Amino acid sequence: MYFRSTRAKHVKVSASQAILQGLSEDGGLFVPEFIPSFTVGLNELKLMTYHQIAYEVMRLYFTDFSETELKDCINSAYDGKFDDEAIAPLKEVGGTYYLELFHGATIAFKDMALSILPHLMRVSAKKKNLKEEIVILTATSGDTGKAALAGFADVEGIKIIVFYPKDGVSLIQERQMVTQTGENTHVVAIHGNFDDAQTGVKNIFNDKEMQDKLKEKGYVFSSANSINIGRLFPQVVYYFYAYAQLLKAGKINEGEEINFAVPTGNFGNILAAYYAKNMGLPIAKLICASNENKVLYDFFGSGTYDKNRDFILTSSPSMDILISSNLERLIFHITGNDPDKCKELMESLGALGKYDISMAMKEKLNDFVGGFASEADTLSAIKRVYEESGYVLDPHTAVADFVYHKGFKDERKAVVVATASPYKFVRSVIMAIDESKAGIDEFDLIDELEEISKVAVPKAISDIRNADVLHNTVCTIAEMPQIVGGFLQK
Ligand SMILES: *Cc1c(COP(=O)(O)O)cnc(C)c1O
Repeated sequence: MYFRSTRAKHVKVSASQAILQGLSEDGGLFVPEFIPSFTVGLNELKLMTYHQIAYEVMRLYFTDFSETELKDCINSAYDGKFDDEAIAPLKEVGGTYYLELFHGATIAFKDMALSILPHLMRVSAKKKNLKEEIVILTATSGDTGKAALAGFADVEGIKIIVFYPKDGVSLIQERQMVTQTGENTHVVAIHGNFDDAQTGVKNIFNDKEMQDKLKEKGYVFSSANSINIGRLFPQVVYYFYAYAQLLKAGKINEGEEINFAVPTGNFGNILAAYYAKNMGLPIAKLICASNENKVLYDFFGSGTYDKNRDFILTSSPSMDILISSNLERLIFHITGNDPDKCKELMESLGALGKYDISMAMKEKLNDFVGGFASEADTLSAIKRVYEESGYVLDPHTAVADFVYHKGFKDERKAVVVATASPYKFVRSVIMAIDESKAGIDEFDLIDELEEISKVAVPKAISDIRNADVLHNTVCTIAEMPQIVGGFLQK
């Protein structure tokens, strides 16, 4: 399997090259030359573990990895860092299934991919005889930073530096980051907002002089953001696994189609479901759920993608996004894999903030349906599910739950993809259930949640309550290159 670019004709790279590079040089995203078929029969699938399915899915994409290399990556990623042996358990609640992707080190779905990406990178670097040490630079608005830190901590040959906005993340998110252990981890608060942090990181990536200097010292930069194929394809695995669990429990027959509802921001998670479907998994509808930043809902309705609108801060911050980067891959596929057309649309997005797709392209989007939840809808979903069953949703999952129940229930079984533990967004969750708790401190709300949800406080939360603060660097945007240089002295 080789990977091509969504924006240029003659690019052809191996998986390990694409993993190290992140983006194609022309600015396009790497896509597989064709979507491979999943060859394991459904009768076998239902007997397989998460690790076995992970191998059967990823070996179709990462073909330049040996069996031993890939299995080693999978075993190093999905181990005791997960607090549930099933890795991604499926819970049935009131006739709806919730695929819990929040049992990893940072209790959000980013762990599913960021647990394995560092290992894929480590092996890729060895394959490509990379002599330099890799330095991962990341700006975060909260979830990605901690998941990347946890994934890369103590991985040989890689350092990670995370920048976050000093006053732009929740108390729990900040505490999670500044208590991160691992010799190779660095966490820096910046004076500015998330966009400032992101711009600062981009400037460093574009600073050729700085890169040359660091190369002499034996370092190269790389990125862990969600457009890397080393994050995308590990996410295909759990769609197969969810289906396997339904089969095993006798809830569906072999070949029976099911629906998935996915809380969506950057379009990585639901794109993985699209690949799963095109590999042969019996999926009927891909329900794309947005919060009030409903660019995708409008796009699936009208065929126009338009980011020219106000950015709304919601209780599901990981979905507060106006440019869904991974959508570019879907656009490429629905042009019939035409990089010229895809490039034209992406350039229009860059210049005008919008583009329109043709009728022919729109017809190829039939697998997708879009919906959105307002803030009130989101909180009402948390309250409804809790009152009916005692199960507590986080606000991101609640967006998908609302969209599914409001508009897309049909005769098929449906899986709502649950992307974060309610403990991560404890304030919004408690407010949805019991407004009288408004005055209580965030760390005390954790105990409230344990009482009402009957789910023990996850280790990720109890660990940070008493952990030592290990990172206390604060800087301005202008100081970022200097800070990075300082960390990389040898
Ligand atoms: C990142 C994230 C999402 C959105 O996933 P995308 O792949 O960006 O669409 C949803 N929920 C949570 C909790 C997340 O962290």
